[in-house]
Amino acid sequence: MNAFVAERFRHGRTLLAGDAAHAMPIVGGLGMNAGIADVHNLCWKLAGVLHGWAGPNLLDTYETERQPVAHQTLEQAVTNTQLMLQVQNRRRDQLHAGEAAPDRIELPWSDRFFAQLGLVLGVTYHSDAVLTDNSTPYAPPAPPDTGSTDYVPTAKPGHRMPHLWLTHDRSTLDAVGEWFTLLTPDPAHWEQRTTTPWPLRIETLPDEHIDVCGLRPHGALLIRPDGHIGACWRDRPPGDFALHRALTAITGSASS
Ligand SMILES: Cc1cc2nc3c(=O)[nH]c(=O)nc-3n(C[C@H](O)[C@H](O)[C@H](O)COP(=O)(O)OP(=O)(O)OC[C@H]3O[C@@H](n4cnc5c(N)ncnc54)[C@H](O)[C@@H]3O)c2cc1C
Repeated sequence: MNAFVAERFRHGRTLLAGDAAHAMPIVGGLGMNAGIADVHNLCWKLAGVLHGWAGPNLLDTYETERQPVAHQTLEQAVTNTQLMLQVQNRRRDQLHAGEAAPDRIELPWSDRFFAQLGLVLGVTYHSDAVLTDNSTPYAPPAPPDTGSTDYVPTAKPGHRMPHLWLTHDRSTLDAVGEWFTLLTPDPAHWEQRTTTPWPLRIETLPDEHIDVCGLRPHGALLIRPDGHIGACWRDRPPGDFALHRALTAITGSASS
C-alpha cells in the first residue's frame, strides 16, 4: 500500500490525475473517488483551452484546487486504514487469548469510516477560477476542520452547487453540463448581458430558493461546468459587463 501526493500535478503539457497524482491506501476506499474528481475538475479546463475560450493559465488552477483535496483525502484514507487495523489487531489478540467471537460483528468502519461525503461532495476550491464577486479572487478562509468530513450543502463561491428543485422533476444538478450556468431569479435582466465566446446557459432560480442561495431578487450564481460556483452576485451588479469580466477572470482569458 502506498500513501503519497505528488509535489506537482502539472509540468507543461503533462498533467497528473488519479493514482499517478496521489496514491491512497486501498483500505481507505477513496482513491477512485479522488481520481474521478480530479478529471472532473480538469476536463472542462482542457476543453476551454483547446476550444479557445480559456487561457492556458486556467490549467494551473487544476493543481491549486485539487492538490489540497488530495492531501485531505489521503489523511482520511490513512485514518480509515488505521481504524481497520486497530480492529483486526484486537480481534487477533482475542483469538490468541482463546476468547469467543463477539456476538456482533465489530465493524471497523464505524460511522467515521464511512463519513466521506464531505470529501466527495463538500470540497471547496480556492483559486483564480473562483471569484467572490465580479472581480476579486476568493480569499481562502481558515483551513477546514479535517476531523469532520460531513457534507454541508452551501451555495457559496468555491463550493459545489447543492441540489435544489428547479421544477418538480428537475434539479439544479440537471442544469449543469459542458457550459457555464447562470442561475438567477431574474433571467430577463441577465439574458441581455450574455457574452461570447463562453458557452453559457441561463436558468431560472425559483423564488423559494433565493434565501438559501444568499441572493436578492436580481442576483445570480455563475456555476462552472464542473458544478462548482465560480462567482456570485448577491444583487444586480452595476454596469453591463460584470458577467463578461467574471468569465474572463475565471477562464484566464486575455480579453477584458
Ligand atoms: C484492491 C483495491 C481496492 C480498491 N477499492 C477502492 C474503493 O473501494 N474505493 C475507491 O475509491 N478506490 C478504491 N481503490 C483504488 C482505485 O482502484 C484506484 O484509485 C483507481 O483505479 C485509480 O485509477 P487510475 O485511472 O488513476 O489508475 P489505474 O486504475 O491504475 O489505471 C492506470 C492504467 O494505466 C495503464 N498503464 C500503466 N502504465 C502504462 C503505460 N506505460 N502505457 C499504457 N498504459 C499504462 C495500467 O495498465 C492501467 O490500466 C482500490 C484499489 C485496489 C487495488
